[in-house]
Amino acid sequence: MAQVSCSFCGRKKNEVELLLSGIDAHICNHCIAQGYQVITEELNSKDDKKEKKTKLPKLKSIPPTEIKRFLEQYVIGQDEAKRSLAVAVYNHYKRLNQTVTDDDVVIEKSNIIMVGETGTGKTYLAKSIARILQVPFCIADATVVTEAGYVGEDVETILTRLLQAADYNVEAAERGIVYIDEMDKIARKSDNPSITRDVSGEGVQQALLKLLEGSSVNVPPQGGRKHPDQKMITINTENILFICGGAFDGIERHIAKRINTRPIGFSGDNRIIEIFDKGNLMRYVTAQDLKSFGLIPELIGRLPVLTHLNPLDRETLRRILTEPKNALVKQYSKLFAMEGIALHFTEEVLDFIVDQAMLCKLGARGLRAICESIMTDAMFDLPSQKDVKEFTMTLDYAQEKFSKSSMSLLRSVA
Ligand code: ADP
Repeated sequence: MAQVSCSFCGRKKNEVELLLSGIDAHICNHCIAQGYQVITEELNSKDDKKEKKTKLPKLKSIPPTEIKRFLEQYVIGQDEAKRSLAVAVYNHYKRLNQTVTDDDVVIEKSNIIMVGETGTGKTYLAKSIARILQVPFCIADATVVTEAGYVGEDVETILTRLLQAADYNVEAAERGIVYIDEMDKIARKSDNPSITRDVSGEGVQQALLKLLEGSSVNVPPQGGRKHPDQKMITINTENILFICGGAFDGIERHIAKRINTRPIGFSGDNRIIEIFDKGNLMRYVTAQDLKSFGLIPELIGRLPVLTHLNPLDRETLRRILTEPKNALVKQYSKLFAMEGIALHFTEEVLDFIVDQAMLCKLGARGLRAICESIMTDAMFDLPSQKDVKEFTMTLDYAQEKFSKSSMSLLRSVA
């Protein structure tokens, strides 16, 4: 009679320590041990998933004033944008905590759109707000998205980032916040809806609408293009707060035109523009101007909170240089302190940097580039000069370094 063997691995009875018999099968001690391991791993991973699903951190809502106070530490000025953001985030939390009662009142989501010149702090505001949020947050760029079927990323990849920020916890991602930058770059090129498809503009807006509207979206977990073999994760966007931003270059023209042709007050009178703050027409921006600029009405309708960022004036730039928690001057001082060198900037140098930044017209972004151009040589040389314990940035030194840099060239072109 043939020797009995394990029905799983085929080992013969004399090759194993133990062989258990069932009705018409046998199992050896090796297969039992392996089976036990598989079962424990499987059950543990199920428990993990369950835990991830049910143990979402309890949301403690932070009052708008507190959110704003927090933002003040990083972002200078832009009071109105800070207030709008603080309220929107606060209401977002309230919405997430709402229980549907008999009165049938359901708080709707108020997505935001921020309009302001480049380098005025739109992305920085969004990033700073992310620091206090207790929900997943990500930043995406509208320009990398294209209409389905064209080269570029699918709109769903925006949610991939959020999912990654939520450590693939779908429930957490479904109540997160997404900042979409460069919204103005997907405006359609003319106010009239085109017959042919506009790859960069309207098609993308339509695709974004799908996200903003609150629907179930299939998201590729690793991002990139969808392909048939990839397993999708379904995310419901109903509770995701979208904050959009864009420079909307030239929108002032639309604002001015609207104000000038308004059929009230000094109708048809050009002087009406003079009674407004001419230097900053942006503060009068309305949804109508966004439409004239090329955003489709459906999308504007999904972004009910519209706020603006002011252009940065001299005084604000000066404050940005020294006041915020991680102001540029503080950052350079820290870099030098790590070398054991005390760094000082004279007041004239700070004024000089601000003057140049004003001329470059790059907003606060220019400050960094100018500082780099005058600091690089010192940062190159000083670490090897062990006897130097102090370094004062003087106006002469700054002017000399700046005149030799490519930044000064840029300025003379501008
Ligand atoms: P954009 O409006 O083009 O999105 P950013 O937010 O990216 O501009 O600003 C560029 C940089 O300039 C930021 O990283 C930040 O360091 C600085 N900055 C811009 N605006 C402010 C501000 N109001 N307060 C403090 N820093 C600012």
